[in-house]
Amino acid sequence: MSSAVLAHVALGANLGDARATVSDAIAALDSLPQTRLLRASGLYRSAPWEASGPDFINAVAAVETGLDAHELLRALQALELQAGRERPYRNAPRTLDLDLLLYGDAVIDTPDLSVPHPRLRERAFVLLPLAEIAPALVTASELQAVAGQAIERL
Ligand code: AMP
Repeated sequence: MSSAVLAHVALGANLGDARATVSDAIAALDSLPQTRLLRASGLYRSAPWEASGPDFINAVAAVETGLDAHELLRALQALELQAGRERPYRNAPRTLDLDLLLYGDAVIDTPDLSVPHPRLRERAFVLLPLAEIAPALVTASELQAVAGQAIERL
């Protein structure tokens, strides 16, 4: 993996056994082609944000990957499908949601992929677990800005 890139992935689930779904998905990242799991945050519980249904279980993982960013996105989408995700309507409760937060220091703006993820820094359920495994990527003022959002580390 000579040209491996450090990427950060957000995981969320709020249907069924969400803790197991997120834990299994973290493990599954390590099984993606040309990809190895480096670090994973603990699990967090957050109230739904622009979404409905039960509380979410969230985490962030760091992977080293030889996939390009679009290949990685497709691999993440395949994991979502494997977890039985259904999208009956926008922001419906979902079995598993995987977002590519950061892909090295790449800036990508294509119709199907925006990196850094555009809403990364608005959401406590992304910033707190990201700060846990990559503190240099999150500032104190960014954490302060989301301090009102309901979240707990499990
Ligand atoms: P969502 O329903 O919030 O998971 O959004 C999924 C859609 O967002 C897919 O159609 C992706 O192509 C698109 N998308 C754009 N940028 C990203 C990203 N950084 N990570 C994951 N999905 C993305």
